[in-house]
Amino acid sequence: FVNNTDEFYKYCEENEVEFVDFRFTDIKGAWHHITYRMSAVEASMIDSGLPFDGSSIDAWQPIEKSDMILKPDVETAFLDPFTADSTIIVICDVYDIYKNELYAKCPRSIAKKTLAHMEEIGVGDAAYFGPENEFFIFDDVKFRDDVNSSYFRVDSQEGAWSRDTEYEGGNMGHRPGTKGGYFPVMPTDSMVDLRAEMMLLLEEVGLEVMLGHHEVAQAQGEIGVKFGTLIEAADNVQKYKYVVKMVAHLNGKTATFMPKPLVGDNGNGMHVHQSIWKNGKNLFYKEGEYGNLSETALHYLGGIFKHARAVSAFTNPSTNSYKRLLPGFEAPSILTYSSQNRSAACRIPYGAGEMATRIETRFPDSTACPYLAFSALMLAGLDGIKNKDIPAGPMDIDLFELSLDEIREKNIAQMPHTLREALEGLIADNDFLKPVFTQEFIDTYQHYQFERQVWPDEGRPTAYEFISTY
Ligand code: GLN
Ligand code: MG
Ligand code: MG
Ligand code: MG
Repeated sequence: FVNNTDEFYKYCEENEVEFVDFRFTDIKGAWHHITYRMSAVEASMIDSGLPFDGSSIDAWQPIEKSDMILKPDVETAFLDPFTADSTIIVICDVYDIYKNELYAKCPRSIAKKTLAHMEEIGVGDAAYFGPENEFFIFDDVKFRDDVNSSYFRVDSQEGAWSRDTEYEGGNMGHRPGTKGGYFPVMPTDSMVDLRAEMMLLLEEVGLEVMLGHHEVAQAQGEIGVKFGTLIEAADNVQKYKYVVKMVAHLNGKTATFMPKPLVGDNGNGMHVHQSIWKNGKNLFYKEGEYGNLSETALHYLGGIFKHARAVSAFTNPSTNSYKRLLPGFEAPSILTYSSQNRSAACRIPYGAGEMATRIETRFPDSTACPYLAFSALMLAGLDGIKNKDIPAGPMDIDLFELSLDEIREKNIAQMPHTLREALEGLIADNDFLKPVFTQEFIDTYQHYQFERQVWPDEGRPTAYEFISTY
């Protein structure tokens, strides 16, 4: 891996690189790319950038101001393990030539500004993020029109429709069944080789892989990778999704990070572990307190809970996200924290020492753009530190057992139940984002989400509505 333009050229030469693939992330979190012949790549391009059409990327530039610049971040360069000819991928930021600054709608640039803001206000000098992205591996995508089935066919080897009782295709002897995936050995776990291939390739593209396992739902998996700084961790999410999807694809399967593809089984989360450091000290650690959490950590969490509605517009940005956040599926709906309890919106991993003490926010999912999601979480947390917010908790009971009445009685705030609620939360509460997010970006973002997701979804009758018409 390389540190500057000279090293970049040397590395390309050593690896006989034929193509340079420049990549950037849009506001949905999708990776885009443009590929140059090595012979056409000049040092000036690596240093000052290359042009692209910003009007063809969702919610970015108007046609009359479409010229934008990609600024390669050369330290991110890595060889693409999936191309036939040697190709090096370089992650880029987007530069606004009209304003001469990093583009206000570029998620990766927003994440960089968030980090700079944390340093500027003097809270910390490093922020670590550890996302855990869960996924499903399906055979193919099929649409079904009856009410009780999911839209996807589960991996045929694990093989059933998602509906608990209605199995098609006979013998269930070696199949995990609903919530049966955590985590019997082969042959029930049919994804061992796929995960192994993914783990090896993730290492090749620079992630530090620790473990892989089948998750609770049928055909669900997870690979544990090491945390990183805010930008590293977000770059790693982009690489992780790319590798998982490509390995599945090359094996004739489809990987999806969709939060809730199966009716009645667990969904896919993106838990996000976080800690903030200053002068080599973990600011979230205080020995002897609940979960060894410092006051700073509690205030940070208090900020996240206080702004949870607006934050979830970024951490849970799809209509499908809210189908996952229901009690009973290890995905949280209640805004409290707990050491150990996996039904709380925030878990404090148990018994961690100074180095490892952190909070684990459990509501985010992989439909989030990681740069925006981590930034929103951190800005909410920093606002909490400023205002000394206090989170509700700790609560060590199983929160999934609480009735709605009990939740109301105890006055525990809940996650939003729909994307609309989250976006309306964002419209009403966004001052905490303002040190970094521009009003124009927030407006663009919420409009885009209403137009592309909320309105089409709200205007579409579901199968359930047909049967409830008497
Ligand atoms: N799949 C669960 C979720 O939706 C998490 C399960 C786990 O990692 N314990 O968040
Ligand atoms: Mg995990
Ligand atoms: Mg998991
Ligand atoms: Mg977790």
